[in-house]
Amino acid sequence: MRSLVWFRRDLRVSDNTALHHGCEMADDGVIGLYVITPEQWQAHDDAGCKVKFWLDNLRGLSAILSLLNIPLLIRACGTFSEVPELVCSVAMENQCDSVFINQEYEVNEFRRDQATAATCNAAGIQFETYHDRVIVPPDEIKTKDGRFYSVFTPYRRVWDTRALEFAKVLPAPSKQKTTDVEPSPFPESIDGFSFDDFREDLWQAGEAEAASRLERFSTAIADYNDGRDIPSINGTSLLSPYLAAGVVSPRQCLAAALAVNNGKIAGADGPTTWISELTWRDFYTAVMVGFPRVSMHRPFKVKTDDLDWRDSSADLEAWKSGRTGYPIVDAGMRQLNQTGWMHNRLRMVTAMFLTKNLLIDWRLGEQYFMQKLIDGDLAANNGGWQWSASTGTDAVPYFRIFNPFSQSKRFDPDGQFIKKLCPELKPVPSKSLHDPGKLKAAVEKHGVDYPSFVVNYKEGRERALAAFKSL
Ligand code: FAD
Repeated sequence: MRSLVWFRRDLRVSDNTALHHGCEMADDGVIGLYVITPEQWQAHDDAGCKVKFWLDNLRGLSAILSLLNIPLLIRACGTFSEVPELVCSVAMENQCDSVFINQEYEVNEFRRDQATAATCNAAGIQFETYHDRVIVPPDEIKTKDGRFYSVFTPYRRVWDTRALEFAKVLPAPSKQKTTDVEPSPFPESIDGFSFDDFREDLWQAGEAEAASRLERFSTAIADYNDGRDIPSINGTSLLSPYLAAGVVSPRQCLAAALAVNNGKIAGADGPTTWISELTWRDFYTAVMVGFPRVSMHRPFKVKTDDLDWRDSSADLEAWKSGRTGYPIVDAGMRQLNQTGWMHNRLRMVTAMFLTKNLLIDWRLGEQYFMQKLIDGDLAANNGGWQWSASTGTDAVPYFRIFNPFSQSKRFDPDGQFIKKLCPELKPVPSKSLHDPGKLKAAVEKHGVDYPSFVVNYKEGRERALAAFKSL
């Protein structure tokens, strides 16, 4: 039996469920496959830096697979619609009896896989699908009456009781029987994508890099509760790009947290809170599966479809480019533009600013994040945006609008982060960064080239409250 393991966002050999089973069942070699679909990626707004990160990781993956005698083939087509024929023909050309995949839960990906399974089956090729992308598979956590949860806290209560059942980490496979198939060369560029934004200094590729980041973070995980909201320090794991590309698995992350938490889900503050973030990741994936409208540009709360969003390309541009006149918002957006990543606290602050203070449709912000983020993930991004916009499952109540000045006072009191990302504000005394009147006076006094407020804070807030109330 020869296996074809089709890699997607699971670019690793250790704890890779499909690869593990593909190798276990094969006695006549294993072939790897990766399919590049530039048109589909463009339609999904995948960021250039993310695509570059995928390619870099793919290169590392191919090298490790070669050591296991598994050649990695790279094929390209335009969109998902061409994938079923392509995968089936690769399987047939290489005498593979079965195709192994780890399930992707997004609607288009799911349909693509169903079509590929049908095409393969019709050609006499088995198609094996595994849960791998999250810790607890979406279908496993349902309410008593069989529905998907739409609120995090009860979901988490059940998740806590089930997670250890799914926590086993699988070893990397051993060497396979050699085949006469040669690995493919790597593309240096992909049509339609610029790699200029990619920060190689920040995001080194590879499973070993992800593992060492996880190890480093687990020695500091005890401080996670204190540090995770402070953007000027590395208080979080910075593992999201690796989790999104599947260079590390969520089970490996859970195992690292359990190792410093006496093997328990609930225990010391740091690891327990971090496990809770992994739970949010599972939760938003389950929401996407249970309520597929959220991945089709629809709000979870259907009535918020009627919200009268503002149409202002000037305000949207100011937000995108980090020139709103609100220092913490601008610093967050510039971090995104410059690094492809943004601190979680700032994702909430900037998302809420766009959707509430500027009353601009969350879908435009969701799209911009996706076009820029190296860790862009439909479920997490959509969940975060709908939370911030008060249109989602577990969303923040519409009247709880973050005040950007209170947020920066609390989480960046010395303005360290703001001044790093907005260096023109260096002459402004730190305290003045957290007070609109003082900020305006200091900017004028020091002749700083910094924009005036894109919206008056009070007026923007009242406009948002009125719009939500009128629903
Ligand atoms: P850590 O704090 O170390 O957390 C560990 C891991 O848990 C993360 O890597 C991530 O995989 C997961 N996680 C943490 N918080 C969340 C969360 N709220 N929802 C889902 N998973 C979470 N995360 C993405 O991975 N991709 C996105 O596209 C994305 N878009 C977001 C958009 C908005 C508007 C908001 C508010 C949040 C978004 N998040 C997204 C969640 C979160 O901001 C990032 O996962 C986190 O900042 C990544 O940094 P880290 O790896 O250091 O996180």
